[in-house]
Amino acid sequence: MPDNVRNVIIIGSGCSGLTAALYSARANLSPLVIDGHEPGGQLAITTLVENFPGFPEGIQGPELIDNMRKQAARFGAEYRAGHVVKVDLSQKAADGGKKPIEVNLGRETLLTRTLIIASGASARWLGLPSEQALIGHGVTCCATCDGFFFSGKEVAVIGGGDSAMEEALFLTRFATKVTIIHRREQFRASKIMLDRARQHQQIHFLTDTVVDDVYDVSKKEVTGLRLRNVKTGEQWDFPTSAMFLGIGHTPNADFVGDQLARDGEGYLIPEGFVCSRAPGVFISGDVADRHYRQAVTAAGTGCMAALEAEKYLDEMGK
Ligand code: NAP
Repeated sequence: MPDNVRNVIIIGSGCSGLTAALYSARANLSPLVIDGHEPGGQLAITTLVENFPGFPEGIQGPELIDNMRKQAARFGAEYRAGHVVKVDLSQKAADGGKKPIEVNLGRETLLTRTLIIASGASARWLGLPSEQALIGHGVTCCATCDGFFFSGKEVAVIGGGDSAMEEALFLTRFATKVTIIHRREQFRASKIMLDRARQHQQIHFLTDTVVDDVYDVSKKEVTGLRLRNVKTGEQWDFPTSAMFLGIGHTPNADFVGDQLARDGEGYLIPEGFVCSRAPGVFISGDVADRHYRQAVTAAGTGCMAALEAEKYLDEMGK
Protein backbone atom coordinates (compact mmCIF):
# COMPACT_ATOMS: atom_id res chain seq x y z
CA MET A 1 0.00 0.00 0.00
CA PRO A 2 1.25 3.56 -0.64
CA ASP A 3 2.56 5.25 2.51
CA ASN A 4 -0.03 8.04 2.37
CA VAL A 5 -2.56 5.51 3.66
CA ARG A 6 -3.79 6.29 7.18
CA ASN A 7 -4.49 3.59 9.71
CA VAL A 8 -7.79 5.07 10.88
CA ILE A 9 -10.06 7.77 9.51
CA ILE A 10 -13.08 8.71 11.60
CA ILE A 11 -15.99 10.47 9.93
CA GLY A 12 -17.69 12.70 12.48
CA SER A 13 -16.54 14.69 15.49
CA GLY A 14 -19.40 14.15 17.92
CA CYS A 15 -18.92 12.21 21.13
CA SER A 16 -18.88 8.90 19.25
CA GLY A 17 -16.19 9.95 16.78
CA LEU A 18 -14.12 11.60 19.51
CA THR A 19 -14.27 8.54 21.74
CA ALA A 20 -13.16 6.41 18.78
CA ALA A 21 -10.37 8.97 18.25
CA LEU A 22 -9.28 8.75 21.90
CA TYR A 23 -9.10 4.95 21.88
CA SER A 24 -7.38 4.64 18.51
CA ALA A 25 -4.95 7.45 19.36
CA ARG A 26 -4.03 5.67 22.60
CA ALA A 27 -3.41 2.55 20.49
CA ASN A 28 -0.81 4.59 18.54
CA LEU A 29 -2.88 4.55 15.36
CA SER A 30 -2.74 8.35 14.75
CA PRO A 31 -6.40 8.67 13.76
CA LEU A 32 -7.64 11.48 11.54
CA VAL A 33 -11.08 12.88 12.43
CA ILE A 34 -13.11 14.55 9.67
CA ASP A 35 -15.16 17.21 11.45
CA GLY A 36 -18.19 17.21 9.14
CA HIS A 37 -20.72 19.98 8.66
CA GLU A 38 -21.76 20.02 12.34
CA PRO A 39 -18.46 19.87 14.27
CA GLY A 40 -18.98 18.45 17.74
CA GLY A 41 -22.30 16.92 16.75
CA GLN A 42 -25.44 17.35 18.82
CA LEU A 43 -23.63 17.96 22.11
CA ALA A 44 -22.12 21.10 20.59
CA ILE A 45 -25.59 22.65 20.29
CA THR A 46 -27.09 21.51 23.55
CA THR A 47 -27.03 23.10 27.00
CA LEU A 48 -26.67 21.33 30.32
CA VAL A 49 -25.98 17.58 30.05
CA GLU A 50 -27.04 15.95 33.30
CA ASN A 51 -26.91 12.30 32.29
CA PHE A 52 -23.29 11.83 31.20
CA PRO A 53 -21.67 9.87 34.04
CA GLY A 54 -18.92 11.57 36.00
CA PHE A 55 -20.39 15.06 36.29
CA PRO A 56 -22.53 15.24 39.44
CA GLU A 57 -23.57 18.83 38.70
CA GLY A 58 -23.92 18.23 34.94
CA ILE A 59 -21.72 19.80 32.27
CA GLN A 60 -22.44 22.12 29.34
CA GLY A 61 -22.54 20.13 26.06
CA PRO A 62 -19.99 22.33 24.22
CA GLU A 63 -17.59 22.06 27.17
CA LEU A 64 -17.95 18.27 27.28
CA ILE A 65 -17.23 17.96 23.56
CA ASP A 66 -14.30 20.38 23.75
CA ASN A 67 -12.81 18.28 26.57
CA MET A 68 -13.19 15.11 24.49
CA ARG A 69 -11.51 16.78 21.54
CA LYS A 70 -8.53 17.93 23.60
CA GLN A 71 -8.28 14.55 25.33
CA ALA A 72 -7.99 12.67 22.00
CA ALA A 73 -5.56 15.30 20.61
CA ARG A 74 -3.29 14.78 23.63
CA PHE A 75 -2.68 11.21 22.40
CA GLY A 76 -2.13 12.19 18.78
CA ALA A 77 -5.55 12.43 17.13
CA GLU A 78 -5.64 14.92 14.25
CA TYR A 79 -8.60 16.90 12.96
CA ARG A 80 -9.54 18.02 9.48
CA ALA A 81 -12.36 20.46 8.61
CA GLY A 82 -14.32 19.01 5.75
CA HIS A 83 -17.39 17.19 4.60
CA VAL A 84 -17.28 13.69 3.17
CA VAL A 85 -18.97 13.51 -0.23
CA LYS A 86 -18.54 9.80 -0.88
CA VAL A 87 -16.55 6.79 0.19
CA ASP A 88 -15.34 3.77 -1.76
CA LEU A 89 -15.37 0.77 0.57
CA SER A 90 -14.64 -1.87 -2.03
CA GLN A 91 -11.04 -2.63 -0.87
CA LYS A 92 -10.35 -4.69 -3.98
CA ALA A 93 -7.04 -6.53 -4.33
CA ALA A 94 -4.62 -4.27 -6.21
CA ASP A 95 -0.89 -4.39 -6.98
CA GLY A 96 -0.26 -7.34 -4.71
CA GLY A 97 -1.95 -5.64 -1.77
CA LYS A 98 -5.38 -4.53 -0.73
CA LYS A 99 -6.73 -1.32 -2.23
CA PRO A 100 -7.33 1.10 0.63
CA ILE A 101 -10.67 2.63 1.51
CA GLU A 102 -11.17 5.98 -0.25
CA VAL A 103 -12.70 8.95 1.55
CA ASN A 104 -13.63 11.73 -0.84
CA LEU A 105 -13.89 15.27 0.60
CA GLY A 106 -14.68 16.93 -2.71
CA ARG A 107 -11.35 18.66 -3.32
CA GLU A 108 -9.23 15.71 -2.14
CA THR A 109 -9.43 11.98 -1.59
CA LEU A 110 -7.89 10.42 1.53
CA LEU A 111 -6.86 6.79 1.84
CA THR A 112 -7.20 4.61 4.90
CA ARG A 113 -6.94 0.99 6.03
CA THR A 114 -9.87 1.32 8.43
CA LEU A 115 -12.82 3.67 8.55
CA ILE A 116 -15.06 4.48 11.49
CA ILE A 117 -18.35 6.03 10.45
CA ALA A 118 -19.59 8.18 13.32
CA SER A 119 -21.37 10.81 11.27
CA GLY A 120 -24.42 11.10 13.53
CA ALA A 121 -27.84 12.35 12.66
CA SER A 122 -29.06 15.87 11.80
CA ALA A 123 -32.15 17.74 12.88
CA ARG A 124 -35.28 17.19 10.79
CA TRP A 125 -37.44 19.91 9.21
CA LEU A 126 -41.17 19.88 8.43
CA GLY A 127 -40.45 20.46 4.74
CA LEU A 128 -42.89 23.36 4.16
CA PRO A 129 -41.64 25.90 1.55
CA SER A 130 -42.39 28.80 3.95
CA GLU A 131 -40.44 27.05 6.71
CA GLN A 132 -37.43 26.59 4.45
CA ALA A 133 -37.60 30.23 3.31
CA LEU A 134 -37.57 31.44 6.93
CA ILE A 135 -34.71 29.32 8.27
CA GLY A 136 -32.46 31.75 10.12
CA HIS A 137 -35.27 34.33 10.22
CA GLY A 138 -37.26 32.89 13.10
CA VAL A 139 -37.32 29.24 11.99
CA THR A 140 -34.59 27.23 13.71
CA CYS A 141 -33.79 23.83 15.14
CA CYS A 142 -31.35 25.09 17.75
CA ALA A 143 -32.74 26.71 20.88
CA THR A 144 -29.25 26.97 22.33
CA CYS A 145 -28.01 28.93 19.33
CA ASP A 146 -31.02 31.17 18.71
CA GLY A 147 -33.10 31.35 21.92
CA PHE A 148 -31.46 34.59 23.03
CA PHE A 149 -32.76 36.43 19.94
CA PHE A 150 -36.33 35.95 21.16
CA SER A 151 -35.96 37.51 24.58
CA GLY A 152 -39.28 38.96 25.72
CA LYS A 153 -41.16 37.33 22.80
CA GLU A 154 -43.61 34.43 22.44
CA VAL A 155 -42.28 31.36 20.61
CA ALA A 156 -43.47 27.93 19.44
CA VAL A 157 -41.72 24.56 19.69
CA ILE A 158 -42.78 21.72 17.41
CA GLY A 159 -42.56 18.09 18.56
CA GLY A 160 -43.47 15.75 21.38
CA GLY A 161 -40.16 14.08 22.26
CA ASP A 162 -37.38 14.89 24.73
CA SER A 163 -35.79 17.34 22.29
CA ALA A 164 -38.96 19.42 22.13
CA MET A 165 -39.28 19.42 25.95
CA GLU A 166 -35.64 20.33 26.38
CA GLU A 167 -35.86 23.17 23.85
CA ALA A 168 -39.05 24.49 25.43
CA LEU A 169 -37.57 24.45 28.94
CA PHE A 170 -34.43 26.18 27.72
CA LEU A 171 -36.43 28.83 25.87
CA THR A 172 -38.28 29.85 29.06
CA ARG A 173 -35.04 31.66 29.98
CA PHE A 174 -35.73 34.17 27.21
CA ALA A 175 -39.29 33.94 25.89
CA THR A 176 -42.31 35.14 27.85
CA LYS A 177 -44.41 32.23 26.60
CA VAL A 178 -43.46 28.94 24.93
CA THR A 179 -46.13 26.85 23.19
CA ILE A 180 -45.33 23.21 22.43
CA ILE A 181 -47.25 22.13 19.35
CA HIS A 182 -47.54 18.38 18.92
CA ARG A 183 -49.35 16.34 16.27
CA ARG A 184 -50.72 13.74 18.73
CA GLU A 185 -52.09 13.62 22.25
CA GLN A 186 -49.51 11.07 23.46
CA PHE A 187 -45.91 12.15 23.96
CA ARG A 188 -42.71 10.28 23.20
CA ALA A 189 -40.86 12.41 25.75
CA SER A 190 -39.66 10.75 28.96
CA LYS A 191 -41.94 11.26 31.94
CA ILE A 192 -39.44 13.40 33.82
CA MET A 193 -38.98 15.83 30.91
CA LEU A 194 -42.69 15.98 30.10
CA ASP A 195 -43.56 16.63 33.76
CA ARG A 196 -40.99 19.43 33.96
CA ALA A 197 -42.50 21.08 30.89
CA ARG A 198 -46.07 20.59 32.10
CA GLN A 199 -45.27 22.12 35.46
CA HIS A 200 -43.60 25.18 33.97
CA GLN A 201 -45.84 28.25 34.06
CA GLN A 202 -44.44 29.73 30.83
CA ILE A 203 -45.00 26.54 28.83
CA HIS A 204 -48.33 25.83 27.14
CA PHE A 205 -49.39 22.83 25.04
CA LEU A 206 -51.37 22.46 21.82
CA THR A 207 -51.90 18.79 20.97
CA ASP A 208 -53.41 17.08 17.91
CA THR A 209 -52.13 20.11 16.04
CA VAL A 210 -49.94 20.48 12.95
CA VAL A 211 -48.33 23.44 11.18
CA ASP A 212 -49.68 24.02 7.65
CA ASP A 213 -47.81 27.25 6.93
CA VAL A 214 -45.34 29.70 8.42
CA TYR A 215 -45.89 33.49 8.08
CA ASP A 216 -44.49 35.84 6.80
CA VAL A 217 -42.08 35.06 3.99
CA SER A 218 -42.57 38.53 2.42
CA LYS A 219 -41.39 40.22 5.63
CA LYS A 220 -38.45 37.80 6.05
CA GLU A 221 -39.46 37.12 9.64
CA VAL A 222 -41.75 34.76 11.51
CA THR A 223 -44.96 36.50 12.54
CA GLY A 224 -47.21 33.47 13.01
CA LEU A 225 -48.22 29.94 12.05
CA ARG A 226 -51.21 28.51 10.26
CA LEU A 227 -52.27 25.64 12.49
CA ARG A 228 -54.73 22.77 12.00
CA ASN A 229 -56.35 20.45 14.48
CA VAL A 230 -55.93 16.98 12.96
CA LYS A 231 -59.09 15.63 14.62
CA THR A 232 -61.55 18.44 13.82
CA GLY A 233 -59.87 19.89 10.71
CA GLU A 234 -60.23 23.39 12.22
CA GLN A 235 -57.58 25.87 11.01
CA TRP A 236 -56.47 29.08 12.68
CA ASP A 237 -53.70 31.66 12.75
CA PHE A 238 -51.36 31.54 15.71
CA PRO A 239 -49.16 34.60 16.29
CA THR A 240 -45.58 33.79 17.28
CA SER A 241 -42.11 35.24 16.79
CA ALA A 242 -40.26 31.98 16.21
CA MET A 243 -40.71 28.31 15.37
CA PHE A 244 -38.20 25.92 16.96
CA LEU A 245 -38.17 22.41 15.48
CA GLY A 246 -37.70 19.47 17.84
CA ILE A 247 -39.00 16.69 15.62
CA GLY A 248 -36.13 14.24 15.55
CA HIS A 249 -33.20 13.56 13.30
CA THR A 250 -32.08 12.09 9.96
CA PRO A 251 -28.94 9.93 9.81
CA ASN A 252 -25.95 11.38 7.93
CA ALA A 253 -25.05 8.40 5.77
CA ASP A 254 -25.77 9.43 2.20
CA PHE A 255 -22.03 9.39 1.35
CA VAL A 256 -22.16 5.60 1.84
CA GLY A 257 -24.83 5.06 -0.83
CA ASP A 258 -25.83 1.39 -0.92
CA GLN A 259 -22.39 0.00 -0.02
CA LEU A 260 -23.58 -0.79 3.51
CA ALA A 261 -26.89 -2.09 4.84
CA ARG A 262 -29.34 0.73 5.70
CA ASP A 263 -32.90 0.77 7.01
CA GLY A 264 -35.89 2.56 5.50
CA GLU A 265 -34.92 5.91 7.03
CA GLY A 266 -31.28 5.58 6.01
CA TYR A 267 -29.80 4.52 9.37
CA LEU A 268 -26.82 2.20 8.96
CA ILE A 269 -27.42 -1.37 10.14
CA PRO A 270 -24.29 -2.77 11.81
CA GLU A 271 -23.44 -6.46 11.82
CA GLY A 272 -22.87 -7.62 15.36
CA PHE A 273 -22.31 -4.49 17.40
CA VAL A 274 -20.22 -2.07 15.35
CA CYS A 275 -18.93 -4.10 12.38
CA SER A 276 -20.18 -3.86 8.80
CA ARG A 277 -20.18 -6.07 5.73
CA ALA A 278 -17.25 -4.04 4.33
CA PRO A 279 -13.86 -5.17 5.67
CA GLY A 280 -12.19 -2.54 7.85
CA VAL A 281 -15.33 -0.42 8.11
CA PHE A 282 -16.93 0.13 11.51
CA ILE A 283 -20.02 2.05 12.54
CA SER A 284 -20.75 3.92 15.75
CA GLY A 285 -23.10 6.45 17.33
CA ASP A 286 -26.39 7.91 16.18
CA VAL A 287 -25.87 7.17 12.47
CA ALA A 288 -26.80 3.59 13.41
CA ASP A 289 -28.96 4.21 16.47
CA ARG A 290 -32.61 5.17 16.18
CA HIS A 291 -33.39 3.82 19.61
CA TYR A 292 -31.05 4.94 22.42
CA ARG A 293 -29.39 8.03 20.92
CA GLN A 294 -27.67 9.08 24.12
CA ALA A 295 -24.25 10.71 24.44
CA VAL A 296 -23.06 7.83 26.59
CA THR A 297 -24.25 5.12 24.18
CA ALA A 298 -22.68 6.99 21.24
CA ALA A 299 -19.42 7.23 23.17
CA GLY A 300 -19.65 3.53 24.08
CA THR A 301 -20.03 2.38 20.49
CA GLY A 302 -17.22 4.76 19.45
CA CYS A 303 -14.96 2.92 21.88
CA MET A 304 -16.11 -0.44 20.49
CA ALA A 305 -15.49 0.65 16.88
CA ALA A 306 -11.95 1.77 17.75
CA LEU A 307 -11.20 -1.56 19.45
CA GLU A 308 -12.50 -3.41 16.38
CA ALA A 309 -10.39 -1.24 14.06
CA GLU A 310 -7.31 -1.94 16.19
CA LYS A 311 -8.01 -5.69 16.07
CA TYR A 312 -8.55 -5.58 12.30
CA LEU A 313 -5.22 -3.76 11.78
CA ASP A 314 -3.44 -6.26 14.04
CA GLU A 315 -4.83 -9.11 11.97
CA MET A 316 -3.68 -7.32 8.79
CA GLY A 317 -0.23 -7.15 10.33
CA LYS A 318 -0.13 -3.32 10.58
P1 NAP B 1 -38.09 11.66 18.97
O1 NAP B 1 -38.11 11.02 20.30
O2 NAP B 1 -38.06 10.82 17.74
O3 NAP B 1 -39.35 12.64 18.90
C1 NAP B 1 -39.65 13.35 17.74
C2 NAP B 1 -40.99 14.03 17.94
O4 NAP B 1 -41.26 14.84 16.80
C3 NAP B 1 -42.13 13.05 18.10
O5 NAP B 1 -43.02 13.53 19.07
C4 NAP B 1 -42.79 13.07 16.71
O6 NAP B 1 -44.16 12.88 16.74
C5 NAP B 1 -42.51 14.48 16.25
N1 NAP B 1 -42.41 14.55 14.79
C6 NAP B 1 -41.59 13.85 13.97
N2 NAP B 1 -41.76 14.22 12.69
C7 NAP B 1 -42.71 15.17 12.70
C8 NAP B 1 -43.33 15.95 11.69
N3 NAP B 1 -43.00 15.84 10.40
N4 NAP B 1 -44.28 16.83 12.07
C9 NAP B 1 -44.62 16.98 13.37
N5 NAP B 1 -44.07 16.28 14.37
C10 NAP B 1 -43.13 15.39 14.04
O7 NAP B 1 -36.82 12.64 18.82
P2 NAP B 1 -36.08 13.51 19.93
O8 NAP B 1 -37.04 14.24 20.78
O9 NAP B 1 -35.08 14.28 19.14
O10 NAP B 1 -35.32 12.44 20.84
C11 NAP B 1 -34.46 11.48 20.25
C12 NAP B 1 -33.75 10.67 21.33
O11 NAP B 1 -32.84 11.50 22.04
C13 NAP B 1 -34.68 10.07 22.36
O12 NAP B 1 -34.18 8.82 22.74
C14 NAP B 1 -34.59 11.04 23.50
O13 NAP B 1 -34.88 10.44 24.76
C15 NAP B 1 -33.15 11.49 23.42
N6 NAP B 1 -33.02 12.84 23.99
C16 NAP B 1 -32.75 12.94 25.33
C17 NAP B 1 -32.63 14.18 25.93
C18 NAP B 1 -32.33 14.26 27.39
O14 NAP B 1 -32.41 13.26 28.07
N7 NAP B 1 -31.99 15.42 27.93
C19 NAP B 1 -32.80 15.36 25.17
C20 NAP B 1 -33.08 15.23 23.80
C21 NAP B 1 -33.20 13.96 23.23
P3 NAP B 1 -44.81 11.43 17.00
O15 NAP B 1 -44.62 11.16 18.45
O16 NAP B 1 -46.23 11.60 16.60
O17 NAP B 1 -44.07 10.48 16.11
